[in-house]
Amino acid sequence: MDKVRVRFAPSPTGIMHLGNVRSALMNYLFAKRYNGTFVLRIEDTDFKRNVENLSDKIIDDLLWLGLEYNEGPVKGGSYGPYYQSQRANFYTQYLNKLIEKNLAYRCFCTPEELEQKRQRQVAMKLPPRYDRTCLNLSQDDIDKYVETNKPFIWRFKLDYSKTVKFYDLAHKEMSFELKHFSDIPLTRQDGSFTFLFANFVDDHLMEITHVFRGEDHLSNTASQVALYEAFNVKLPIFWHLPIIGNKEGKKLSKRDFGFSLTDLQNAGYLPEAISNYLTIIGGSFKKEILNKEELINAIDFEKIEPTGMIKYDVEKLNWVNHKWISNYDTTKLIELCLPYLINKYPQVQDITREELSKLIDTVKTELVTLEQIVNLTEFYFNEPNLDLELIKDLDIDINFFSKLILDLKDKLNNPEQAVDFIKDTIKEQKKPLSVIFKLIRFALTGRTMGPSILELFKILESKKIYKRLDNLIKKLSILQHQD
Ligand code: GLU
Repeated sequence: MDKVRVRFAPSPTGIMHLGNVRSALMNYLFAKRYNGTFVLRIEDTDFKRNVENLSDKIIDDLLWLGLEYNEGPVKGGSYGPYYQSQRANFYTQYLNKLIEKNLAYRCFCTPEELEQKRQRQVAMKLPPRYDRTCLNLSQDDIDKYVETNKPFIWRFKLDYSKTVKFYDLAHKEMSFELKHFSDIPLTRQDGSFTFLFANFVDDHLMEITHVFRGEDHLSNTASQVALYEAFNVKLPIFWHLPIIGNKEGKKLSKRDFGFSLTDLQNAGYLPEAISNYLTIIGGSFKKEILNKEELINAIDFEKIEPTGMIKYDVEKLNWVNHKWISNYDTTKLIELCLPYLINKYPQVQDITREELSKLIDTVKTELVTLEQIVNLTEFYFNEPNLDLELIKDLDIDINFFSKLILDLKDKLNNPEQAVDFIKDTIKEQKKPLSVIFKLIRFALTGRTMGPSILELFKILESKKIYKRLDNLIKKLSILQHQD
């Protein structure tokens, strides 16, 4: 195999979504697996649709994900520049070669005319394809239009008698008859170069050996193969990655949570978990929680199965994220959770590191996303809101409970002793342990499930504990008198 060169080639026209992230990831893993080079190329030739600062965000996102590129913007490399907006001279050269070979022609059709033609073809149940009006213009007409500066684009003339073939890692040999395709637009009316053309020129000039991108590019690949053939240059190997779908089996869209990487970043999904999840999604793996080294070896690129749509399952992602969180030590978790905590409870900055560790340890096992640290630790910062609905099914003996809490009051300074005391009393009086524990937890946190009573006693001040337990007893008594 030639020295592997792969690339991730995002357009700064929309934010990174899971499909892009997975393409970047597969390119990265492949490069690492075969000691290749991972190139980042920003495809910013569509000036009207480019979003300001998005290129920088994409670069930051890749680094955040841990998908470091070997060549690309900022970093440089010997195949640069890596922004397509700085490569127009190469595209012009290649366009001129096509013009010389008589393989490119000017198309003066307006976007409105093209749209009308398209609609007519669709109505007649014909595959929409450019009808070559401008290929058949007389030289006189062309000269006249050029003289009057009529806007035009360059198109590449496909050979309709040809079938193009290429190799896809999942689908193996693929072939397409060119007669079903439109003559490829090479430029836009504003003189900029199209994605199809610039992307081909760069993959060729940057000596890209493997092109891994979403399945939505399949027909683009067929057109581009015709360009490779026109220039008689070597084709890369392709892999068209399956589209990621939502639960309903539709293509994942902005409306689905987790479509954009930003959603996941804000909610506190870890980069390791996202890469891990996007590697195992849609496949079956004996071991599912994998570190970077393991991810590099997890996929057998020689045996890629052709899959349809792969389903994005947030529950599974949550599971993977939770596992990654559980693997982290408390110091690392503090660092990750602190921004969320400071945002909601600025007073967290006044508590000691030791106290913070204790707090994080208390809720760690429940933490699925980092963002949840805010709700899970709320009891520490604020008195809980007691929604009695949550305990309506508990069979509560208020007299017993009040007496227990009263006797507990002066034992709260020693958490272990306090818990033992509760257990012993319950046993003696043959009361249900789980009900009493739920009540205590509810009084302290507003929830019936969560940290153990011992942990809660350790993290909360004894005065606070008693006050909260007493609050609950008061509420329950009022309720009892109302009945
Ligand atoms: N700029 C294209 C996109 O973002 C690149 C596709 C490709 O990888 O070739 O869809």
